[in-house]
Parts: sequence; structure tokens; C-alpha cells
Amino acid sequence: MTDLTEKLRSVPAVSDLRALRETIWFNDQVTTAERGLLHTGLTREEAEDAEARLRRFAPLIAAAFPETAESGGIIESDMVLLPAMQARLAQRAPLPGRLWLKKDSHLPVSGSIKARGGIYEVLAHAEKLALEAGLITPADDYSQLLSPAHRQFFSQHKIAVGSTGNLGLSIGIMSARLGFHVTVHMSVDARQWKKALLRRRGAHVIEYEQDYGVAVEQGRKAAESDPDCFFIDDENSRTLFLGYAVAGLRLPEQLKEKGITVDASHPLFVYLPCGVGGGPGGVAFGLKLAFGDNVHCFFAEPTHSPCMLLGMSTGLHDGIAVQDIGIDNKTAADGLAVGRASGFVGRAMAQLIDGCYTLSDRTLFTLLAMLDETEGIQLEPSALAGMQGPQRIAASPAYLAQQGITPQQLQQATQLVWATGGGMVPADEMQRYLAKASC
Ligand SMILES: *Cc1c(COP(=O)(O)O)cnc(C)c1O
Repeated sequence: MTDLTEKLRSVPAVSDLRALRETIWFNDQVTTAERGLLHTGLTREEAEDAEARLRRFAPLIAAAFPETAESGGIIESDMVLLPAMQARLAQRAPLPGRLWLKKDSHLPVSGSIKARGGIYEVLAHAEKLALEAGLITPADDYSQLLSPAHRQFFSQHKIAVGSTGNLGLSIGIMSARLGFHVTVHMSVDARQWKKALLRRRGAHVIEYEQDYGVAVEQGRKAAESDPDCFFIDDENSRTLFLGYAVAGLRLPEQLKEKGITVDASHPLFVYLPCGVGGGPGGVAFGLKLAFGDNVHCFFAEPTHSPCMLLGMSTGLHDGIAVQDIGIDNKTAADGLAVGRASGFVGRAMAQLIDGCYTLSDRTLFTLLAMLDETEGIQLEPSALAGMQGPQRIAASPAYLAQQGITPQQLQQATQLVWATGGGMVPADEMQRYLAKASC
């Protein structure tokens, strides 16, 4: 028996993954927020620095994207209560607590959670270049970077990224708006409308016949041979991660506005769709900074692409891909079609995530139609992955006991489903998603 075979045999969840059964894995490495945060190797200061950088850029964002003028150039999403959806779900299985949706699906500029990390990394790079060239100081109004002269400056610089779609949209739209020469390397599963939209905005799109991993690899190679090209590395970027983390830092204020209390007797549960891991990992990192032990984070993945569950449960992280256990990585959940998890996210978050679960594409489409019917909210399939979390947890008494969460505390919990995309899906595409659910 090889070491790998032995390792895989010792992890009970792996047989469910192999069989493509919906499953949940609870993390026995999870510890206090304080200790878990130390283990990440990232600091509160770094996350706060990202938040401050986004504030410096707010005047530029407000000027460049009029839809953000109302929020003063701060790209942030609403959160809404889902009473009808909760009632419908509860017909099948208990759903204690109150069900809320965090609508990153409708973030301005690029309509997905990638409007956090992707845009942040482009801005961080632009700021670095502009500061080095002496074009601005941190005290200046950054909206001046939109002037023709500054566009001319940025046009001499290249940015590249590999993407299944949404990261490419965010980075392409933001980079092109500043004037960068930007190339997006798209995997085969990326939607046609995303490619078309990017081209309209002035980004260069290169298409591949293979999956996300290949698109990223090709992008990385193309950038390596060109010293003027800045490659945004979805699999390893700490900058992206910190951009996402800002979401967590901002949440306490939003909960306060909604009159929601989070403390030891009113826990917060957050369910995050997970692809390569940067988005959900970064958000969870920020949430742990903000709420400490009172927040519990779960990652949700398709049964055909459970790379993070596989990586974390085996401790092999990016040392194993879903294909290694015979899974095809084929799912309709665009942003989640990732076979190998980020090298650093699983390790960084190893002690802060309560667990991961999987769900089938069929379940995603059923939930997609249910949310449309009950609440009139339309999301892309990936964005529904979190929706099963509350019921999975409620059905896991051993986990709740181990975390010391009483039935009463669960009744008082805030169940926050993180919706990650869908706001820019064209109407005809959305109709196809809805039709798929009913067949
Ligand atoms: C990218 C994406 C995710 C997951 O983010 P990762 O950083 O890849 O883990 C989830 N949902 C949607 C819609 C996405 O585009």
C-alpha cells in the first residue's frame, strides 16, 4: 500500500467524495480564534491596511463606476432576510436560527465576490506603480489617476490572470478602466457572455480547451516570459486574500444596522461557496478577526469539485487533486470548478474553519429555483452552495455538542448564506438555469 492510499483510507470522508455522495466533514483541528489566527501567518494589521487602501481608492471608484456613487465608492453588498425561503426549506428538515443572504452576488462593478479580491489586487498594484513613479502620494485624491495622462502611464503596464470567469471579469474590468493592458486566460467552462463582456470593456481574452488549472498555468507562463507583466495568482495571492478579508471587517457594522446581535449566546454561522479558496478563506479570516469565537465558518463545494474538503481533510492541501481520487471536476457551478485547492489557504485556515460539505449540481439547481420562487432573488448556481449549510449543521448533534452549542443558542443563531455571484448573468442565461431546475 502506498503512503497516499494509506492516507486516503484513514480519512472517512474520502469514500463519500469518491462516490460523489453529498457529505460533510467537521474539522477536528479547529481551535480558538486567537490561536487559529496566529497560525494563519497573516495579521489584523494587514487586513486593516487593505481596508484603508480601499478607502483611499473610494473617490476613484465612485468616479469610475457611477453605480458606486451612492456608497461613496465603497464596493459593498446588502444582506437580506429570507423568511419565505427559510419556511420552504424547513418543510423538509429543521432550520433553526434566522436565515440571511449576503448578496455579494450583486456587488457593483462585476456582480460577484470577485469584486472584492480581484479589484483590490488591481488597485494595490496600480497604487504601487503610481507611488513608485511619483504620480501620487497616499494623501492625494486618487480619482486623478483616471486622467488621460495617468491612463497613458498604466497602458505601458500589463496585467494577466487565469480564470473560470468571475475573477477574470473583476480584474479585466478594473484593469481596463485604469488603462492597463490586461489579458484574461479563460478556461473552457467560462461563459460566453463573460468573454464577450470583457472584450467590450477592452480586455484581451485567450480561451483554452482545458479547465481552470490549465488556464492559470498558461497565464502564469505567458506572464513569466514578459518582465513587464504582472500575473495575478488566484492560487497563491495573499493580496487577493486580504481584499476578501475586508468583507469580514465590515460585517459588524452592517449587522448593527440590521439590529443583529452576535455574542456567545447568539452565534453567527457563515456558509461560503469554495473554489480555489481565496474568496471564502479571506472572508472567513476577516470574520474571525471581527467576531472571534462567536463566528463559525463552513466551506461548501460541488460533489464533482471538492478540492478544499479533500485537501483539508487529508492534510495534503495542494498536494492532491480531485482527479487523483477519480473525480472529474465537471460542474455547472462556474467559480467552483476547481480540482486542486490553493496551496496556502487550506493551510492558513486549517484551525479556523469548522468544516466543509459537498452538494450535487442537482441540489444547486433545485435551490436556485426555490430562491427565485420564494424570494424573487436570482443567483448563479455556485452562489447557492451555502444554502444547505444551516440544515446540515442542525442535523449534526455531535458537532454542535463538541462546539458547545446548545439547541437554544442555535435557535438564536444568525445563519448567513454567502451568495457569491449572479448579479450580471444575462436574462436568457438565467432562464436556462431556471429551466434546468425543473427537468
Ligand atoms: C470564485 C467564486 C467562488 C469561490 O472563490 P474562490 O476564491 O475560488 O474559492 C464562489 N462563487 C463564485 C460565483 C465565484 O465566482
